Amino acid sequence: MAVRPPTPKKPVFKVSSCECADCRAACLNSPGWFQPAEVPRLAKHLGLTVEETFRRYLAVGVTHTTDGSPRHGVMPHKLRDHKKPGSVWTLAEVADPGRCIFFDHGKCTIYGVRPYECARMIHGRENEAVKLRRTIVKNWTAEALALFARLTKTKLTGAPPPLGSRRPGTAPARAAGGKKPPAKPKGSS
Ligand code: SF4
Repeated sequence: MAVRPPTPKKPVFKVSSCECADCRAACLNSPGWFQPAEVPRLAKHLGLTVEETFRRYLAVGVTHTTDGSPRHGVMPHKLRDHKKPGSVWTLAEVADPGRCIFFDHGKCTIYGVRPYECARMIHGRENEAVKLRRTIVKNWTAEALALFARLTKTKLTGAPPPLGSRRPGTAPARAAGGKKPPAKPKGSS
């Protein structure tokens, strides 16, 4: 009997709620990224539409996957002289420190609906931080980014859709052995 290779374990990132120097440094320099479903949740919390929320408070960031290809996702705007909320940030701009727009008087003003990445602060473990960002980026598919691509008039690069999420009839030819499936005989259902 063939032995299946072990399924790689998914990393588990626990929610943390401390206000230590690491957490404050992240708010002052590098805000965490949202999961796609968290943006409408934030909009609802602010009493705004997703579009208004993005234009007033958010930005599109970019990161690189292991093969070096870019992937976009949504993050809080960073307060920088040359940038306005609702913009697309380059890799260098994302890396450049800047205070999160939601950080005020030493506190997160959207704490209950803060981004997934902020809620799972990785205290000083660089590798884990990279894994966490990549976990989020996997969910920023082209479909999830479509609205933000339209609002910023920018071509954004999303992650491929998760396996098993393709609509019926769109499976690649490989699934049928590389050939078209035979046509059904007339009269069959
Ligand atoms: S959203 Fe809140 S927790 Fe996250 S960086 Fe901004 S102020 Fe900090």
